[in-house]
Amino acid sequence: MIYLDHSATAPLREEVFELMKPYFTKSFGNASTFYSLGREANTAMEKAREHVANIIGANNEEIIFTSGGTGSDNIAIQGIAYKLKKAKKGNHIITSAIEHPAVMETCLALEKKGFEITYLPVYKEGIIKIDDLKEAIKEETILITIMHANNEIGTIQPISEIGEIAKKNKIKFHTDAVQSVGKIPVDVNEMNVDLLSISSHKLFGPKGVGALYIRKGTRLEPILYGGGQEKDLFPGTENIPGIVGLGEACRLAKEELTFYMDYTKKLRDKLIFNVLNTIEKSYVNGDVEKRLPGNVNFRFTGIEGESIVLMLDMKGIAGSTGSACSSNKLTASHVLKAIGLEDVDSHGSLRLTIGPENTEEDIDTVIKELPPIIEKLRSMSSIWNKDESIWRDNTKSCDI
Ligand code: PLP
Repeated sequence: MIYLDHSATAPLREEVFELMKPYFTKSFGNASTFYSLGREANTAMEKAREHVANIIGANNEEIIFTSGGTGSDNIAIQGIAYKLKKAKKGNHIITSAIEHPAVMETCLALEKKGFEITYLPVYKEGIIKIDDLKEAIKEETILITIMHANNEIGTIQPISEIGEIAKKNKIKFHTDAVQSVGKIPVDVNEMNVDLLSISSHKLFGPKGVGALYIRKGTRLEPILYGGGQEKDLFPGTENIPGIVGLGEACRLAKEELTFYMDYTKKLRDKLIFNVLNTIEKSYVNGDVEKRLPGNVNFRFTGIEGESIVLMLDMKGIAGSTGSACSSNKLTASHVLKAIGLEDVDSHGSLRLTIGPENTEEDIDTVIKELPPIIEKLRSMSSIWNKDESIWRDNTKSCDI
């Protein structure tokens, strides 16, 4: 199996798993207890907190552990929204049109509860414009929540500039950095963020655990109630093996960041160059430069992304499509729509996300296997007709 879906999830690193193991069995203590078994769990948790804080340039006390990216996003966004609405500071939130459902659905739910949400456009590059943000700010604005890197097209937002504007206007700023931590440099002070979400399984840690950075002095209304753990914001007995795994994954990711970035970018660029040069009417969705080093999101006109994924799977290659029908309705991805693609164009999208365990041979295999798959699918497609050139001008999305 050639695994090229690292944005969906990444394999747990063997050395991370080894470190987690004792906390499932002999060191099983509850971190809130005072005898040695409990203290042992607590010490491991605090060590992990230090590693998480380190990878984003935060202080240990500014990190709480959660259930993952979705949990962190909800605690941050709802926490600020309810706290500041209660304090009569306003009810307006600014976000982008390409957020992950963990943010998007939270904003939609808040909209139903009386909050006003502005969804900033991202244009064909998949990146917001700072002038749009400045224009959207009003007296009632209490929160800006804009993701660092997109999970589908990998585009990177100008987080430091957004943070500066938020700071100047005394607006809280949250970023979903689930796809960026461990993949590109992240520093909460350089980025001027008040809140930042992390998920362990995207950076080669275990699933079901994550963290939320909360800048010192930032107050949140709890959305869960319980025994008071994690500053009353994520109560419940701590998932010590998971937390230990997240900590170790962060420690290793920080250590290996430069290698990771150079290596995955080199493989990614080779893939892009070869695919665009061998397959006609193939494009890259979103800005080609300002994107995660291991991410490419292709578009092949005239065919369905799902069919490409299935045929790649038969060749032992795992990728994904950005236009997946997420429910039982065939709806195009909101991200691809937001960069200006019509449904018919976005359905032919294929996301391949590279990790450090991929080899140059893996990429050569994709370069060899993909063109005949596209050709075969196009030969069976009722809408692919290269002679009549029925396709719209695809330059409206970024092609190279
Ligand atoms: N935010 C982004 C950008 C993601 O890509 C994901 C996962 O796909 C999440 C949030 C949700 O993270 P988790 O699976 O840890 O809940």
